[in-house]
Amino acid sequence: MTTATVSTPEFTPVYGPVWSWRYGKSLGIDPIGEISTCSFNCVYCQLGEIKLKTQQRQIYVPTDQILQALAEFAPWDVDVITLSGSGEPTLAANLGEILIGIKTLTQRPTLVLTNGTTLSDSQVREQLALADRVSVKLDGISTAQLQRVNQPVREIDLTQLLIDLQEFRRIFPGELGIQTMILSPWSLSDRQEYQRWIKAIAPTEIQLNTPTRPKPLKHELAGRENHPSPENLPYQARKLKSVEPSVLQDFAQEIQAQTGISVRYPPLSH
Ligand code: SF4
Repeated sequence: MTTATVSTPEFTPVYGPVWSWRYGKSLGIDPIGEISTCSFNCVYCQLGEIKLKTQQRQIYVPTDQILQALAEFAPWDVDVITLSGSGEPTLAANLGEILIGIKTLTQRPTLVLTNGTTLSDSQVREQLALADRVSVKLDGISTAQLQRVNQPVREIDLTQLLIDLQEFRRIFPGELGIQTMILSPWSLSDRQEYQRWIKAIAPTEIQLNTPTRPKPLKHELAGRENHPSPENLPYQARKLKSVEPSVLQDFAQEIQAQTGISVRYPPLSH
């Protein structure tokens, strides 16, 4: 367990820039606010235990507040502006308005990191399609696996989720990433089933990962950012299960060979 002084930073709807191995220098937008809010409570979530588990869409942070804060970061010397922050960004009912506002103000590429649970809603699909890039979480290929890793607010219908994802792919002209967190090696049948769905969804790329940062013991706004040393976090955290780099490498090669879709994973040292 890592222990350090506990800090309580004030909420700001814009944070960073943070460095992302997937997207480069990224300025973060938090459309969710001080109370961590998500339809999942992933075992590895960097926000700590999710405070409000819900599937309810509403305006959490007014668009004007976000855009005013963003204006102060001009000239936005970043690779991408990312909606993520304190939970699931598609729960923000003003998602579309925020994406249009960011683009008009900054002319920078936009990215949304989502868990995909709201994609059954056509309004969400239309709003999300306004982003230049979208990265959707898919941490398992069986309902049991998702229940265990993502601890959703209600049981996920995995087949429906994958169909919704295909539906979104049909209307989304931008770059679609599928991000998959591997906590332990997958069985051959799970890997094959995953590859079958990946072919059907046809994303731009797959992003494989394994937990490298300890999970905060309670909700920490600082969890939105990345920290140079996991041993030196400004909050209490516990270490998570992860796999050896070779597991990600082998799975990446297999997916690429079977689907022809490019797979990326972070530089890892164990
Ligand atoms: S989907 Fe993201 S914000 Fe929600 S619990 Fe999982 S890691 Fe945390």
